Amino acid sequence: MFCPFCNAPETKVVDSRLSNEGTSVRRRRECLTCNERFTTFETVELNMPHVVKSDGSRVAFDLEKLRRGLLKALEKRPVSMDKIDDAMQIVIKKTRLSGEREIESKQIGEWVMNELRAMDHVAYVRFASVYRSFQDLDEFKNEIEKLIQVS
Ligand SMILES: [Zn+2]
Repeated sequence: MFCPFCNAPETKVVDSRLSNEGTSVRRRRECLTCNERFTTFETVELNMPHVVKSDGSRVAFDLEKLRRGLLKALEKRPVSMDKIDDAMQIVIKKTRLSGEREIESKQIGEWVMNELRAMDHVAYVRFASVYRSFQDLDEFKNEIEKLIQVS
C-alpha cells in the first residue's frame, strides 16, 4: 500500500480494528517516510462456509468471535496486533479454502490452536485448555510436554 501523501512504498499498521458489523477491518497506517497517517479498510469475502457446532447446530462464520478468542488467549502477552491479524487471516483463509459449504467448529479451533502455538505458548495453552477442556491433568501435562519438545 503506497502512502497517499508521498507515494512511499513502506507503511506500517499502527492500529487495526473491526467495523461494528464485523464485516471489515479498519487499519490505521503510518508512512515510514513522511509519518503521515491514513486509514484503509479490508473487507472479507462473505462466501464463508457455515460453522457446525459440537451440538450439531449451524451458525454463520463469526469473525468477531474468532478475534475475541484470539485476543482473550493473548491477553497481556507480548504479541503485536499485526501478528494477531495475520493469524486471523490465516484461519479465515483456511476456512474459505476448505471448499466445503459447512465446516466443523472443531476444525477451526484446531487451526486457531496451530496459529497460537506458533505465536505464543502461554496463549496456546490458555486456548487449548478452554477449547479442548482437558479431561484430566495427564492430558494437560502431555500437551505441555509436546510444547517443550518443539521449542
Ligand atoms: Zn508518506
